[in-house]
Amino acid sequence: MKHCSRCVLPDTKPDLQIDAEGVCSACRNYENRKEIDYTERMKDLLVILEHYRSKNGWRYDCIVPGSGGKDSTYQAFKMRELGMNPLIVTASTDHLTVLGRRNIEALKNNGFDYIEVTPNPVIRRKINKFALETIGDISWPEHVTMFTIPVRIAVQMGIPLLVWGENSQHEYGGPASAAQSNVLTRRWLEEFGGLNGLRVSDVQEILGIEPKEMLQYTYPSDAELQDVGVTGIFLGYYLPWDGRANAEYAQERGFEFYDTNVEGSIVRYENLDNAQTGIHDYFKWLKYGFGRASDLASMAIRRGTMTRKQAVKLVRERDGQFPETYLGVSLHAILKSIDMTRQEFNVVCEKFRNKAIFDDNGELFSPLE
Ligand SMILES: [Zn+2]
Repeated sequence: MKHCSRCVLPDTKPDLQIDAEGVCSACRNYENRKEIDYTERMKDLLVILEHYRSKNGWRYDCIVPGSGGKDSTYQAFKMRELGMNPLIVTASTDHLTVLGRRNIEALKNNGFDYIEVTPNPVIRRKINKFALETIGDISWPEHVTMFTIPVRIAVQMGIPLLVWGENSQHEYGGPASAAQSNVLTRRWLEEFGGLNGLRVSDVQEILGIEPKEMLQYTYPSDAELQDVGVTGIFLGYYLPWDGRANAEYAQERGFEFYDTNVEGSIVRYENLDNAQTGIHDYFKWLKYGFGRASDLASMAIRRGTMTRKQAVKLVRERDGQFPETYLGVSLHAILKSIDMTRQEFNVVCEKFRNKAIFDDNGELFSPLE
């Protein structure tokens, strides 16, 4: 396990490469931003928006998929600012928090039309447990539905343009071809949507769930997509994306931060809407030896708001914390909702602890330095 010499990301991170100079692909992507002419990109964006704007106003101009978080708040306002009439579409998170609910309502109350879709929670809890046990990812159902539900609504309502936020491959590193993509295709979802190789059809078969009970997890067919001409853009391709700046922008418009730094994180402003996120991030630690603090500290280093030395100290304190609570919700309550005991949870944790990077005491062989 090796860490980037500029930021603090390790080479165990999926799709991240560290080059001969010891610099990771996420840092290189950020460095290459200097070459980008954002004035030109804004012109391109305006052409696209003009093309997709409803000519008679009888339908929405675009869909902004989002959870009511800082980024979707920013996307919604940006679209309005650029003369679009957006419909906000939220796929409910797997375990919506009280704060997440307040932030959704705050966005609505800024005067947006809004659709929330909640896939059957009874089925979903079964899938949460199954996905945690088999691929070590409790958030699999959420990752599927956040990408499929807005696309399904686009097809059903005949709204061709989806305006996503950032292309996670830009900031977090990934194959160059994917980082340059500005259209979210089905292939992108399959490769980078975080599905860990588990297919919807596998889940149906193994858990004996009827396909009709998982409609919200099913991506529209190519023919349906073509009929409406559904396409997606990443706003992060056209505008210089900055999560922290988006959070401040959203806060001025009613978005609430958490009172203190979120458990296992180093900020108060992101991942506030799903109580299961602490478990999700802990499994990232068990599998790859890094957590959310590493991602956030790395972004701060690239933007010059944190030194690498400060980042190392913070990350060593915060990453890998056992998720005893998340946003104040106890692990007990979260596990209870997916019908899992603490003992079963501990067994799953051990199953996914990566023996190649952790010793028998649970310490990393190559800790961040
Ligand atoms: Zn780096």
